[in-house]
Amino acid sequence: MKTSFILNVAEYIRDAILDHESELESLDRAIGDGDHYINMKRGASAIVEMRAELESLTPDAALNKIGMKLLSTIGGASGPLLASFFMSMGKTLKEKADDGAISYAAAFADGVKAIQQRGKAGLGEKTMLDVLIPVAQQFLTLTASHTNTKEICASLIHTAEQGMLSTKALIATKGRAASLGERAIGHIDPGAKSCQLMIEAVCKQRLLIQD
Ligand code: ADP
Ligand code: MG
Repeated sequence: MKTSFILNVAEYIRDAILDHESELESLDRAIGDGDHYINMKRGASAIVEMRAELESLTPDAALNKIGMKLLSTIGGASGPLLASFFMSMGKTLKEKADDGAISYAAAFADGVKAIQQRGKAGLGEKTMLDVLIPVAQQFLTLTASHTNTKEICASLIHTAEQGMLSTKALIATKGRAASLGERAIGHIDPGAKSCQLMIEAVCKQRLLIQD
């Protein structure tokens, strides 16, 4: 992984968040407090603005710094959760030899585990984890079987979409929406939507790179 890839992805992610302003805002207004778009925009913009500072760092150090920045810029529940994702991903990348997609899948899975530990949540609780857990599993499976990059990207985009849509039928047992009981049914979880958008942005950027 190159740091330039991470920096390009950060711009893609920021753009994807900005493009979905009304959707993210209304999802969090329906089952939360309406600040999820603003939180994500603030975090993504702060990372894009760090380009010069991150450029000279190794990928693991850049991911760690991104995590620390998110901790101080994104408010709400999602800030510390996403921060621990990036910091844990950086830690795994540092510890493992870079053997391409296999090590990225391991780092991604460790990042998702860190979110689970921090938020004390799992699958089916109507959170971002309903996107991240299935994507992490699928990423590990596909890289272990040496699937090519194009197929991995297409599959992860699809898995993320399915996970995001699955939150619609669920009752929330974590986060603000947990107090709504059955009234949360019929609404997609905002954190699941923003994670799906971020995964799509990473995969699309990856497809532009020949390897
Ligand atoms: P807040 O809920 O504090 O207003 P945000 O609106 O930025 O923060 O983020 C809300 C999102 O955070 C939810 O849609 C959900 O996906 C995610 N979330 C909340 N609590 C948890 C948790 N314990 N584990 C995983 N994700 C969570
Ligand atoms: Mg909110």
